Amino acid sequence: MKCVFCGSTDNKVVDSRYLKDSSIRRRRKCLNCGMKFTTYETVEKSPLVVLNVFNEREPFKFEKLLESINTAAYCRDLVGKTSEEICSEIEKKLLALKKQEITTSEIVDVALPIIKEVEPMVALVYFTQHTDCQDYNKIRIFINR
Ligand SMILES: [Zn+2]
Repeated sequence: MKCVFCGSTDNKVVDSRYLKDSSIRRRRKCLNCGMKFTTYETVEKSPLVVLNVFNEREPFKFEKLLESINTAAYCRDLVGKTSEEICSEIEKKLLALKKQEITTSEIVDVALPIIKEVEPMVALVYFTQHTDCQDYNKIRIFINR
């Protein structure tokens, strides 16, 4: 990051703040001229496209996955891993599939073992939220897995 005053790339971050849109605002101090300037960092949008149950395509949203895991985790505290860490792991696994387009059920398939390892009850709640619960057989299969 070049200093806007002198062009030097030597600087240090003196303050970082998370903004509502999940970008980060950083105050930097140039180590060459001592002037301060501000930079903004945003996370690159995931290249994944989700084909949802209505056969509609939508960009994969980390926040949406996070929300669904947080909702499922209302019954039990996640111990050992935060929901953010679980989501990152799920996203990493999804990217490793090397598919641009994934279905909602593929996300659930990838997510379940990861959540289950942290807290099986939360995995069960997540599973029932994303599966047709009329189908008790599926739930029985899940429990026996
Ligand atoms: Zn400078």
